[in-house]
Amino acid sequence: MHEIRDITIIGGGPTGLFASFYAGMRGATAQIVDTLPQLGGQLTALYPEKYIFDVAGFAKVLAKDLVHSLTEQTAQFHFPSFLGQHVTGLEEEDGHFVLVTDTDRFPTRSVVIAAGIGAFSPRRLPQQCADPWYGRGIFDNVADPEAFRGQKIVIIGGGDSAFDWAHQLRDRAAAVTLVHRSDKYRAHGATVGEVNAAVAAGRTTLLPFYELHEIIADGDRLSAIVVREVKTKETRTIEADCVLPMLGFISDIGPLAEWGLNLEKHEIVVNSLMETGRPGVYAAGDITSYPGKLKLIATGFAEAATAVNQAFHWIYPDKKVNPGHSSNMAVFGQKDD
Ligand SMILES: Cc1cc2nc3c(=O)[nH]c(=O)nc-3n(C[C@H](O)[C@H](O)[C@H](O)COP(=O)(O)OP(=O)(O)OC[C@H]3O[C@@H](n4cnc5c(N)ncnc54)[C@H](O)[C@@H]3O)c2cc1C
Repeated sequence: MHEIRDITIIGGGPTGLFASFYAGMRGATAQIVDTLPQLGGQLTALYPEKYIFDVAGFAKVLAKDLVHSLTEQTAQFHFPSFLGQHVTGLEEEDGHFVLVTDTDRFPTRSVVIAAGIGAFSPRRLPQQCADPWYGRGIFDNVADPEAFRGQKIVIIGGGDSAFDWAHQLRDRAAAVTLVHRSDKYRAHGATVGEVNAAVAAGRTTLLPFYELHEIIADGDRLSAIVVREVKTKETRTIEADCVLPMLGFISDIGPLAEWGLNLEKHEIVVNSLMETGRPGVYAAGDITSYPGKLKLIATGFAEAATAVNQAFHWIYPDKKVNPGHSSNMAVFGQKDD
């Protein structure tokens, strides 16, 4: 059992990280609990190397750098983050909540659900021959592109991630082959154009209508894969050091759907106070739904501020909802209003 906190935030994406900072600014105690092994939500898991152009104050910022800045901003309050912990239950005991994960129990006076699109995991290759190679030749997450320098890479998929990585790894890799089971690509037209230009220049190989058939090993090391044409069943062997399946993500709000909250599809319906209908439980970010909702980082930040201010006032009614201006706050070494 952990120490009781004022606000426990489910989700360490941009919304949850900003909520954590905001809690500290208000003088509340907080903690983040997230299923993923690292902070940053979609930004870290889905597009760390992409530039974002619509976050206030940045002409452009890499997703991973924005996560770094958000983490640094909240780190000044020294709140703990519990990663690799999937929240499954919300219980009430002795006048407070307890968030339950597979292995832990987190007592808390209030909850801010910043669970985004839910807990997500990469869609795995359907071929069983791939299973033993995950983590040692097959990687569905590119945390550090430098790790693939000089390698012969096969990317499988036809969406944004597959094309983005084919484009971004090309200059680092010894060879890039993009394999997709059709010639219909869901990626952004500009990126498809860039990859096609690299194909025309002989710098990338594109194999439409192929799928993984077999993995070839050299001792413990993945050394090649066999791909098979979906109609003719003709096979080709491609030398490879690694395979990057980029097949999208499966997301699931899972047990949150059973907490008696007002749900619409897979989103939590909130009012303008970010209240969920269950007293003491607030929501913010991509997980929320209301008329005019925009699923954007900017919106998540504003909702996080509202949710935390409301939660703080709900726990401590003598504290104002309105935080005042940070530029005057003693917590930042400024003269208090
Ligand atoms: C490719 C791509 C490009 C994008 N580009 C932009 C852009 O340019 N500008 C923009 O504004 N937005 C962009 N977005 C959208 C933006 O990423 C989201 O709006 C933002 O990530 C939402 O933040 P969030 O914190 O609400 O949720 P998320 O980032 O989804 O984070 C939610 C976190 O909650 C965790 N979680 C969920 N359920 C549980 C549970 N039960 N227990 C524990 N943890 C849980 C998840 O693991 C996750 O880490 C883009 C999205 C994608 C996919």
